[in-house]
Amino acid sequence: MKPVKIETCPYCGGKDLIGGYGIQSISSSDKIATRRLLGDLEYTVCSDCGSIVHIGAINLEKLIAGNKAAG
Ligand SMILES: [Zn+2]
Repeated sequence: MKPVKIETCPYCGGKDLIGGYGIQSISSSDKIATRRLLGDLEYTVCSDCGSIVHIGAINLEKLIAGNKAAG
């Protein structure tokens, strides 16, 4: 996985970016729920304007494997 480097908020120009974690929860259907663990997300949030500057998948390899398995 290539590293993502973000130093400035593209929305307000702020440079104070903080990290946060979340879990993707779009639907309660079994199919989505099964994939929820694979969809853990890492957020980069601008502390000046609150915009989510970047969202990355934490378990990228598992996510890719899961998608291949699902066809
Ligand atoms: Zn900002």
